[in-house]
Amino acid sequence: MSSSKAKSGLVTPAIKKKVVDLRRKVHMYPELQFKEFKTQKLILAELKKLGVKAKKIAGTGVVATIPGAKDSKDGKALMLRADMDALPVTEEIKSPYMSRHEGRMHACGHDAHVAILICVAQLLKEHPVDGPVKLVFQPAEEGGVGAQGMIDDGVLENPSVSAAFALHVWAGIPTGKMGIVLGPAMAAVDEFDLIIKGIAGHAAYPQGSIDPIYISAQVINSLQSIVSRNVDPMQTAVVSVASIHGGMNYNVIPPEVKLQGTCRTFTDENRRTVKKRLFSIVKGTAKALGGSVEIDYRHMIPATVNDKNASAYIWDASVDVLGKRNVYEADAMMGGEDMGLYLRRVPGCFAFLGVQNKKIGAAFPHHHPKFAIDEDGLPDGVEIMYRTAKRYFESINK
Ligand SMILES: [Zn+2]
Ligand SMILES: [Zn+2]
Repeated sequence: MSSSKAKSGLVTPAIKKKVVDLRRKVHMYPELQFKEFKTQKLILAELKKLGVKAKKIAGTGVVATIPGAKDSKDGKALMLRADMDALPVTEEIKSPYMSRHEGRMHACGHDAHVAILICVAQLLKEHPVDGPVKLVFQPAEEGGVGAQGMIDDGVLENPSVSAAFALHVWAGIPTGKMGIVLGPAMAAVDEFDLIIKGIAGHAAYPQGSIDPIYISAQVINSLQSIVSRNVDPMQTAVVSVASIHGGMNYNVIPPEVKLQGTCRTFTDENRRTVKKRLFSIVKGTAKALGGSVEIDYRHMIPATVNDKNASAYIWDASVDVLGKRNVYEADAMMGGEDMGLYLRRVPGCFAFLGVQNKKIGAAFPHHHPKFAIDEDGLPDGVEIMYRTAKRYFESINK
């Protein structure tokens, strides 16, 4: 079943085949964050074949600017981004192109993003749009905040970028459909480490010690009051304690307990509130119960906020390719994406391309060992990305 309903599609059968072949090639050799050497090499080789000048950036990243048929009115470039990294997951679905790297797998679909963007480069060469398009292949999206290294290495400059777009293939959306969130799409991600300190001792004589396990229990309970009591009920936030370690015996009160967790928010105000309340609750509870605490709180990535005007380009491009009834406004998600770092600096949109097809087993969630995609969705992604660039310049050059 081909999902492509493009009225006058530019994606030829040859490109349809190419996007699938490339995706399978990348899928076979998944590489973890900051180690995307083979993937980088493949991207550079494929771009060279197309006559596209590309260079390495931020270690294992690649950036290439394809000039337009003419310069854009503002002299700036449009950025299209694909992430490149895989996950420490062992693939469970057998296929001729299954992972050859034991314990590593493209379980989030970034292999598809790489393949799509290379094929977009081909379309841009064959059918230039009215302004320069910067293709950005970014390492380390999966928790490595690879976008920061790209920005530090100047990916948004020379030529400077006026808007940025990216697709994520999505296992929850059927092939042939596109989900676009208008506004905040993915949450800001913060991480914390807490070391709750007490005084070790004999568990039969607690009066002689300060029990960090008891303090931790109170801390964990109280942290859940932040979302229920401090955040506006009409807004969204999450505080999760996801790791707890302390003690090793029936009759010993340990000296300390280590907790780890994450906070997710969508607005800067809520992000500040959650952090402030976490410090206050943790410090106050530890102190009240006679202990102390060390807190390491890290802002990892900001919320990924889609610009409403910019989203219209990818929305309309998706309608061109998939038809009006197959493009819909999707709900925001509490997961994080370092695309948010670019979208804090330039307007743009991060959209979800359907690749779910239960008939062929492409229905498992992202990061699952049985994660699979319906490759019929890939040509749609190529055409949508290309048309987004085309529509963008047609509009801003007016
Ligand atoms: Zn992922
Ligand atoms: Zn992903």
